Amino acid sequence: MRNIAKKNYTLKETKEKRKPRIQYCGYAVNANVNQPINLCKNDKGGLFFNGVANCGGYWRCPVCALKISEHKKELLSGLISAHQSRNLSIGFLTLTVRHSKFDTLKKSLEKISDNYRKFQQSRFFAKTDHGIIGQVKTLEITYSDDNGWHPHLHILYFYDNANDKEIEKFQKEMLKRWVSFRDNNSRISGQNQKMLASDNSDYLAKYDITMEMTKGQIKSSKGLTPFTALAKIACNDYADEFEKRRLYGIYTCYVEQTQGKHFVNISNSLRKEYSQFMDEFNKTDDDIVNEVTIDEILLKVSLPIWKKICKNDLQPLVLNKYKENGLEGVYNLLTYFKDFKDLEIEVDTNEYPVLI
Ligand SMILES: [Zn+2]
Repeated sequence: MRNIAKKNYTLKETKEKRKPRIQYCGYAVNANVNQPINLCKNDKGGLFFNGVANCGGYWRCPVCALKISEHKKELLSGLISAHQSRNLSIGFLTLTVRHSKFDTLKKSLEKISDNYRKFQQSRFFAKTDHGIIGQVKTLEITYSDDNGWHPHLHILYFYDNANDKEIEKFQKEMLKRWVSFRDNNSRISGQNQKMLASDNSDYLAKYDITMEMTKGQIKSSKGLTPFTALAKIACNDYADEFEKRRLYGIYTCYVEQTQGKHFVNISNSLRKEYSQFMDEFNKTDDDIVNEVTIDEILLKVSLPIWKKICKNDLQPLVLNKYKENGLEGVYNLLTYFKDFKDLEIEVDTNEYPVLI
């Protein structure tokens, strides 16, 4: 998927004749050029290469998006638990706006962001004593042939009380006002609101909500997301050349319109309330993708061999083969290719095997 994604240039990159960062993701070597690349195991048993650049493009790179969304999911889960441990309620809302299948993503995105911002400044919001301490908002974008681009917002409201009946009444009233706010013109059935019990009893609901907040466009079962479009191309899951181009077009358009957009927004008031999470709040997407836990170094790859692995796009296969059959699996895989006919395994002074 990343190999397909990196062929795409935004208009700006084309104009400035600049290579997109995703082209270096998983390929380019970090920092000290004389160090080999390490195949490592993390604390959860996952295998990865350490010492390689990550692009950190949430809207663009399927590999980095997975890491970033995983981090945000954990962060939200922690925030929810902290709030529930104070016996306070949380509301979960999904907001949409009306769009036609012919509306551009640009237009629908602007509409939903502008209208939500103005909605929060509206009389209803300002005047109601709704008890919201702060909020987390995520943006999700899906696409379908029947309805076109469908950007929508998932929002968590953190309340200063546990009057669930009152809160639910407020949230329902809010949805009613939202659908007719400015040019939203959306249907009440397209919106959604629910409560997370303050007593932390509903573990599944919490799980569902953090998934929906952060994983929607990666694992969506509803309609097509830009990443599922990429997956279809990568797996040759299309009827003809026309459909393939259309899938790529969806991805391209999505990348173009999401530049500079935040995937998760955490309000300042919530950051203040839960300052114990400040380190996590402050992490940029780059920080997140470059954060690694090395439990064990399994194998070292010298730079000339690494370059050949990249040239043949074998990075994911190397990981898979190591998982299946260790060093022998990797050796058998590589020596299958002409480029590696002189491949040797050496043991370094720290007794790590090195591919040279
Ligand atoms: Zn990346």
